[in-house]
Amino acid sequence: MNGDVTVVGGGLAGLVAAARLAEAGADVTLYERRPEVGGRVRTETVDGFTLDRGFQVLFTSYPAVAAELDADALDIRRFAPGATICRPGSRATLSDPLRDPLGAIPSLLNDEVSFSDKLRTLALRYDLSNRDADDFFGGPDDSSIREYLRDWGFADEYVENFVEPFYGGITLDRSLSTSKEVFEYTFRAMGRGAIGVPAEGMSAIPESLADRAREAGVTIETGADVETVRTAGQGRIPFRTGAADAEGATVELADGSTRETDAVVVAATPPEARRLTGVESIPTEAVPNVTGWYALPAGASFETGKRILLNAAEESPNAVIPMSEVAPEYAPDDRALLAATFLGEESLDRPADALRDDVRDALAAWYPERDFAGLETVDVNRVRFAQFAQPPGVHASLPDPDDPEGPVVLAGDYTEWSSIQGALESGRTAAEAAGGYL
Ligand SMILES: Cc1cc2nc3c(=O)[nH]c(=O)nc-3n(C[C@H](O)[C@H](O)[C@H](O)COP(=O)(O)OP(=O)(O)OC[C@H]3O[C@@H](n4cnc5c(N)ncnc54)[C@H](O)[C@@H]3O)c2cc1C
Repeated sequence: MNGDVTVVGGGLAGLVAAARLAEAGADVTLYERRPEVGGRVRTETVDGFTLDRGFQVLFTSYPAVAAELDADALDIRRFAPGATICRPGSRATLSDPLRDPLGAIPSLLNDEVSFSDKLRTLALRYDLSNRDADDFFGGPDDSSIREYLRDWGFADEYVENFVEPFYGGITLDRSLSTSKEVFEYTFRAMGRGAIGVPAEGMSAIPESLADRAREAGVTIETGADVETVRTAGQGRIPFRTGAADAEGATVELADGSTRETDAVVVAATPPEARRLTGVESIPTEAVPNVTGWYALPAGASFETGKRILLNAAEESPNAVIPMSEVAPEYAPDDRALLAATFLGEESLDRPADALRDDVRDALAAWYPERDFAGLETVDVNRVRFAQFAQPPGVHASLPDPDDPEGPVVLAGDYTEWSSIQGALESGRTAAEAAGGYL
């Protein structure tokens, strides 16, 4: 492949597109407006703690993980299957009898979820495991997760005690109004692999992709904000009259410099991708997320067996994650690190002390024998655009990578579904589409 490609945006999608194009022989320059690559997958070090910028996890069974990443090199610290369902005075383990037979014993005994709903869970797992991986998104009969589970016959208690906090954490929407397609895909993925975080933090994922891209010859320029993308001889993309065979494009940066290029991959965040290309089907409605990070003196275990603590009784916090029990590297030796997630627009504006008090009250109610007075806030991440909103039907209306006119293609989770899998996969598809212009 001969020719020059410019990639706008150094999130997972842009990094995969750049690496793949360079590996195929193209000359590739990637512009990222922030000081570092990673986009929505970033990690910071604060007071010796490793903090992902918003708690998130990698599903090891995602097909794009095998295709794009070296999972061994990421050194994944795995959560145990299932979750611990918490309410005042009680903690109950809900595990996966197929993947974790030992955990299944307390799981079968716990009375938060009925035996028939546990059997229904296995039947659902079996049903989804027989589906083709490419057959999950954009179908004609979409519905909300809540409607889907009702149709399957799950009891309201199962949905309230387990699915609301657990899938609230995955879709960042505890109301379960998100598309059932996200539930089906992720539920199937959890049956096939673990969820976990790299020992050095989630940013190890984009950093490994950036290393791969540089080795293939990609020039990565950070702190480089792209202002406009124009196709040859025409105006800014949204206003041009369009000629599909336009030769080349010009990328203009905020500092006024320009770059002539044969093809452009726009891998910016959805609202910015829409501004740059004018493609109106790019979804721009955001789902926010707030993550609080908390420290305690190292010591007593949370006795979850490396499971997430789900708040079955209250919505705030949605869940508490015993982070350093799962990934000891995230905390200094003398401290324990917890993450807590808060959902909904209103949590964006709540003061850090109010969030910490919710976490302290929840822990004190779940572990009445313990004292959490020493719980300290390490940091709070408020992410306004964590995922694009995914109501039922949304995936059928997402843009195609080659929707922009001229030699410009789209990459980003917003061409697939809002996830690491969606972003990585979109980078591969965009690289193929951009290669068609070289
Ligand atoms: C708190 C949180 C929790 C999440 N939880 C999970 C989870 O558990 N599992 C999961 O699979 N997914 C999760 N996600 C979603 C997942 O992180 C995203 O879907 C994915 O990272 C999107 O990658 P992307 O490359 O499509 O976009 P982005 O990461 O948004 O990358 C776009 C990049 O473009 C850059 N950019 C924008 N405009 C310009 C411009 N004009 N010029 C130059 N650069 C520009 C941005 O700075 C950014 O780096 C979560 C996200 C968040 C924030």
